Amino acid sequence: MKVLNNVDKEYLLASIRDVKDFPKPGIVFKDITTLLADAKAYNFLMDHLYARYKDAGIDFVAGIESRGFIFGAALANKLGCAFTPIRKPGKLPYTTISEKYSLEYGVDEIEVHIDAFTCKHSNPKVLLIDDLIATGGTANAAVNLINKAGANCFEACFIVNLKFLNGEALIEKNTPVYSVLEVE
Ligand code: AMP
Repeated sequence: MKVLNNVDKEYLLASIRDVKDFPKPGIVFKDITTLLADAKAYNFLMDHLYARYKDAGIDFVAGIESRGFIFGAALANKLGCAFTPIRKPGKLPYTTISEKYSLEYGVDEIEVHIDAFTCKHSNPKVLLIDDLIATGGTANAAVNLINKAGANCFEACFIVNLKFLNGEALIEKNTPVYSVLEVE
């Protein structure tokens, strides 16, 4: 499947702003609002994702709250498939199923509606998307949640991968990982 060449990667990476010491000292936050504010870069990225997945037979794009919604909903619409939000606890109004995961200190949880992946055929094909993979904990829980909900995670897609945290190692046991951009 399609990947970007280095020139295109550099172009997109340059549209993402680094914010030092946010939300706490020592973290370099990859701020994708500058990519979204650049219509040409945002369109280029979405065209790339469309080209990569258009023939994959995806039934659902599932986006992780909240930045995964921005890319996921746009991509689902381009692909002509459904979009499913994976949300933080207490946000979805209907019956949910949930998955807990460990943080550096404590635990967190994500949820989907119990009927989120209802489809005309059995074993619906889901593409998971988020803006960034760091330790991989959130996305790994999302893959587990997709499986728990009776669907099949086809691939986990990220706009940015913080390679030095090796988050993809956690997820690759359960599903293939594709990162548009990598930060060493
Ligand atoms: P993790 O579960 O450690 O892979 O964290 C991934 C989630 O945290 C994603 O939803 C990201 O949006 C967010 N995140 C973690 N680190 C950063 C960072 N350096 N810059 C931007 N977002 C981040």
